[in-house]
Amino acid sequence: MRAMVLHNITRLEDNQTPLQIEEFPMPVPKEKEVLVKVSVCGVCHTELDEIEGRTPPPRFPVILGHQVVGTVEKQGERATKFKTGDRVGIAWIHSACGKCTHCRNGNDNLCDQFQATGRDTHGGYAEYTTVSEDYAFPIPELFSDLEAAPLLCAGTIGYRSLRLTNMRDGDILGLVGFGASAHLVIQMARHRYPHSKIFVFARTEGERAFARDLGAVWAGGIDEKPPEKMNCAIDTTPVWKPIVEALGNLAPGGRLVINAIRKENIDRDALLKLEYPHHLWHEKEIKSVANVARTDVSEFLQLAAKIPIKPEVQTFKLEEANTALLELKGSKIRGAKVLIL
Ligand SMILES: [Zn+2]
Ligand SMILES: [Zn+2]
Repeated sequence: MRAMVLHNITRLEDNQTPLQIEEFPMPVPKEKEVLVKVSVCGVCHTELDEIEGRTPPPRFPVILGHQVVGTVEKQGERATKFKTGDRVGIAWIHSACGKCTHCRNGNDNLCDQFQATGRDTHGGYAEYTTVSEDYAFPIPELFSDLEAAPLLCAGTIGYRSLRLTNMRDGDILGLVGFGASAHLVIQMARHRYPHSKIFVFARTEGERAFARDLGAVWAGGIDEKPPEKMNCAIDTTPVWKPIVEALGNLAPGGRLVINAIRKENIDRDALLKLEYPHHLWHEKEIKSVANVARTDVSEFLQLAAKIPIKPEVQTFKLEEANTALLELKGSKIRGAKVLIL
């Protein structure tokens, strides 16, 4: 099968073609797994973290991609949940132990045997992939394959981060960074919390205009002051300064949820600007989001169909994955990037 393959950790500044198009052996579904013929695969900022080594794959070569939509081609032994031809999605969570306290409490995202699609196992930048039937998700009919792909990561992790804010209707929500995840979160937040104001902090005027289109009552730059203090905020940026700014803009008792798998080190000195009375006192909280649980994926897909959330997508061919990644690195974002197989 054709696949875009990563052979080693590299920096995009030095190497603009980190992935190579190659013939790769067809995967074989193991017990309770299904073989999926990939139709589309979303491109995520986490792929940059994998390529550049901030969350390195444990083995090479590896096929990235964890927002996979396709159809079941074949079932492994004892796999009974899906028929051949069923449409399924595969998300970042590829498997977990199923037995530990976290797994039993529905937080399989925190399991120490958590395996990530397209990092610990081969993902969807390829014609075929395999997944446990327990971690393959039926996709509501409302969505095309292209629309479903970004929902599987940006949407599900956005759903988890919104849940972790603990916000109530009427609370003011800040979205710090306005990429693939935030543009879905704003739609969820408006549906669930119709009396809440949403403020958006984004680097470019294009992103800010997009945020206003989607219902932000205020949109400004990362270091601009919003018109009111916020009860909660979700940070989706890859750096540190926006966190410091967001803490300063939180109301007493406010909570900042950091939705990032890793932070880049380029502006770590911004943390030295943290002043306890201004940024942390008054019972402000910081909480990170780690991965997604299986229930986040299935619950979010149902919610997205109900709202409905239709992501804006920009499409690329499989062999153009490097271009999509470079554009993502350069923040050329309006909606989500998706590879078509
Ligand atoms: Zn992702
Ligand atoms: Zn576990």
